[in-house]
Amino acid sequence: MFRKILIANRGEIACRIIATARRLGIATVAVYSEADAGARHTRLADEAWPIGAAPARDSYLSIPRIIDVARRSGAEAIHPGYGFLSENAAFAEACAEAGIVFIGPPPSAIRAMGSKAESKALMERSGVPLVPGYHGEAQDPALLMDAAKRIGFPVLIKASAGGGGKGMRVVESVNDFLPALEGAQREALASFGDDRVLVEKYLSRPRHIEIQVFADTQGNTVSLFERDCSIQRRHQKVLEEAPAPGMDLTRRQAMGDAAVAAARAVGYVGAGTVEFIAEGDAFYFMEMNTRLQVEHPVTEMVTGLDLVEWQLRVAAGERLPLPPEGLSIRGHAIEARIYAEDPGRDFLPSTGRLAHLRQPHAVPGKVRVDTGVRQGDAITPHYDPMIAKLIVWGEDRPAAVRRLTAALAEYEVVGLETNLGLLRAIVAHPAFGTADLDTGFIARHAARLLPDDTASSVADEAVVLAAAALAAVRAQDLAIQSAARASGDPWSPWAAVDAWRMNGDGYQDLHFRRGDGVTLALRTHPLPDGTFRLDLPSGPVSASLEEDPDGLLLTVDGVSRRLSATRRGAEVTVIVGGRNHTLVQVDPLAPPRVETAGGDRVTAPIPARVTRILVAPGDSVAKNAPLLVIEAMKMELTLRAPMEGTIAQVMHAVGEMVEEGTELVTFAAGPDSA
Ligand code: ADP
Repeated sequence: MFRKILIANRGEIACRIIATARRLGIATVAVYSEADAGARHTRLADEAWPIGAAPARDSYLSIPRIIDVARRSGAEAIHPGYGFLSENAAFAEACAEAGIVFIGPPPSAIRAMGSKAESKALMERSGVPLVPGYHGEAQDPALLMDAAKRIGFPVLIKASAGGGGKGMRVVESVNDFLPALEGAQREALASFGDDRVLVEKYLSRPRHIEIQVFADTQGNTVSLFERDCSIQRRHQKVLEEAPAPGMDLTRRQAMGDAAVAAARAVGYVGAGTVEFIAEGDAFYFMEMNTRLQVEHPVTEMVTGLDLVEWQLRVAAGERLPLPPEGLSIRGHAIEARIYAEDPGRDFLPSTGRLAHLRQPHAVPGKVRVDTGVRQGDAITPHYDPMIAKLIVWGEDRPAAVRRLTAALAEYEVVGLETNLGLLRAIVAHPAFGTADLDTGFIARHAARLLPDDTASSVADEAVVLAAAALAAVRAQDLAIQSAARASGDPWSPWAAVDAWRMNGDGYQDLHFRRGDGVTLALRTHPLPDGTFRLDLPSGPVSASLEEDPDGLLLTVDGVSRRLSATRRGAEVTVIVGGRNHTLVQVDPLAPPRVETAGGDRVTAPIPARVTRILVAPGDSVAKNAPLLVIEAMKMELTLRAPMEGTIAQVMHAVGEMVEEGTELVTFAAGPDSA
């Protein structure tokens, strides 16, 4: 076994790999970009080396820098994690040339599976079932259109070099084919430098079922069973589970055999995942990922294995730790990916500091949280916006769903938008409960899953206001106490925080503004026993707020609830019942805030890089016309014209980084504007 390994990755997966290495007594070398100085993975590792600037191509994608650190630190092997260089055959070769073991498959296997089209041709020859489609070399549009007609609409155009759902277009009818083809080719060229596409039958309600395979260097290849990853947004996984609901033994065997055949066909070694799309009783090969998957923990939970340990053993030349007869599934596991994104705004990634982060309590074998961040860390625009993975295990699926529900209710994040509300809504949905899963689940149930802006109930509002008010009073008390301590005079009248309460009718008026702009007024009356009477808009209540090691406990008219309240300046976020409620404390005597006109400005909604400019000064555009494309966190965003008009200025060039709120395009004053 290795004595020291380097982890060429960041975030939760770097932390995950370090944990296993440590358990096995293997020393770890972390690498980090400027944006990740002091990040969790750098503190967990035995050593952490800087490798460059924040953009991935200057750091986590820099083969020479990573090889150089491996050499200088004396690492014998490199674990690439997922993403970044994990499926880069040139990196695997560079490791070999430097005499360092690449913890992954041989470069030839990475190459063979690197192209969706070529891997499909190879799978066809190996007898692995494929979705009916065209994956040939010839790319003449007329020929592709003929193929689409032969396959029958709807069809799916996919970038051959694709990944992350980029360069993918669903085409409903023959008239839409050519424009969709152009779009897919353009996106493919921009993202992968390769505009080749394939065309296949678009299945209307498929499930995504994948098989975890493992192979050693002695010719043993096994299936570690399946995962169902059908709950997706934008063709990207959100919830994954093992085993797949409704999977019978015959089908599991058939899919396992097909996956093992796929792995053998490319001389596979190490951990890999063969992805299938399944509809009815049929299943078809989609692609093979030649690395550890994000969702590997659900397989670990139901098999009791540590897949990173298997990777390390195989890379060190050992045999697979268990033969196929030694493998079995116990219970049910589900993983939820917690993302910094706004489901209400088409899953726009969200950046910022995690002002408050409370994760569910880990329970060995039952509740696991894999994360790369701590409270106070920032989610930056440079990398994937995943905050954490929450993985739960139960004796059966209903037990796992219950445990996931409870764990999601414990999750608290303040400081940026997250998909926690969406995850809770999915898990609570009856169709999820009955495992009526397919890849269109989120889109089909959107009305019930995506947040609506209806105000919370009056009862909720009373609790939220009471919490906000008492948190404000408490913050004042603490500020006064620390001012007194700082003044060095503990007997200063400032230290007598509750003197004003003694006279019985000392009260304080507070005002909070809700998200919808409505200001709520309330009066707090401190009582001699440390509790309060609050005159809320809904009427008077008695209330108290206590803090103990488990957090805050708010009691309103005798009913106590656990909640959290996080203050950032004048803003207070109360989390109760798993929902964030943000209020802003306002001074009613202050002059009203002048809202800057935002409706007709074109600004970057998040920090991003400008990737395409579609208009020039002098162009006249219709309302909603695409103006430019920006890219952040592996996602492309098209910014559209807020109104009809003439473009005056395009303020940034392709390739430039822009901050959130930066104005990107201005309009010439129209004839009707003053
Ligand atoms: P990428 O590598 O870009 O993520 P994949 O080929 O893995 O693309 O497909 C991603 C997702 O797209 C799948 O999980 C599935 O939801 C959907 N998908 C792929 N192929 C088809 C198809 N033929 N019919 C319907 N949906 C599909």
